[in-house]
Amino acid sequence: MTKVYIDGQLYEKEEAKISVFDHGLLYGDGVFEGIRVYNGKIFKCREHIDRLYESARAIGIKIPMDKNAMVEAMENTLKANNLTQAYIRLVVTRGVGDLGLDPRLCKKASVIVITDKIQLYPPEIYEKGLELIIASTPRNHQSALSPRIKSLNYLNNIMAKMEGQQANVREVVMLNLEGYVCECSADNIFLVKNGVLKTPAASAGILKGITRDTIMELAHEMGIPVREENITRFDLYVADEVFLCGTGAELIAAIKIDGRVIDDGKPGPIFKQLLAKFRELASV
Ligand code: PMP
Repeated sequence: MTKVYIDGQLYEKEEAKISVFDHGLLYGDGVFEGIRVYNGKIFKCREHIDRLYESARAIGIKIPMDKNAMVEAMENTLKANNLTQAYIRLVVTRGVGDLGLDPRLCKKASVIVITDKIQLYPPEIYEKGLELIIASTPRNHQSALSPRIKSLNYLNNIMAKMEGQQANVREVVMLNLEGYVCECSADNIFLVKNGVLKTPAASAGILKGITRDTIMELAHEMGIPVREENITRFDLYVADEVFLCGTGAELIAAIKIDGRVIDDGKPGPIFKQLLAKFRELASV
């Protein structure tokens, strides 16, 4: 039976419930993380925990336990569920309040840890790549709500993803209000042009993905030049390679964008090298 951690206790999945007055539910007022476990080891654990606490600080939520206790809660939940290859969903909500917005009425944040099997894209996607469209829904402007906060309110991304579903594609690219490429609905994006790896800078208004950071580190080690810069729709269409990355997806090549075939329509050589290195790193 699956066990879920809520505020210091493990519950059976069916009993794992929170109040309808929790502002996480009422207003999307909270933050979360998605983390992978490979061979029993929490991948990039410290990075995910740091980002969770930063997201919480940015919206004024005080997480009622320290980082070590958070790691322990994850480890205990994994153990209770006997998982060594897993996906962890860490959720921190503002907690129980009343029906008004006032966050001060929520006396204590709630911490939830859900562990589950990994849900990847079908295996053929990793070999063949996938098709994207550029959504007409822009990414939230960072001055209104920074995409660096991994908040429980994903409506902006969901609206964009729905456009993808209408167009029968699995992922979409979101632009910022200036028209530059930001990221996908749940992944970051890279392109390769003339041997240089490029990705939007955090200042474009993106979630600073941990997989993205890992790929940039791997590229440095492999001697591949990396640039964080403004990327346009045109740059994507004429790229030699495009791929997306995230905790759930890992790395996936994009082979068509808005009906334009990317290069020869196959995952490219730099993508393949990076994927191999990433898998090597994740499996140790
Ligand atoms: N951007 C968005 C909007 C996301 O939801 C995610 C996945 N959490 C990412 C990028 C990738 O981030 P990470 O590599 O840290 O999973």
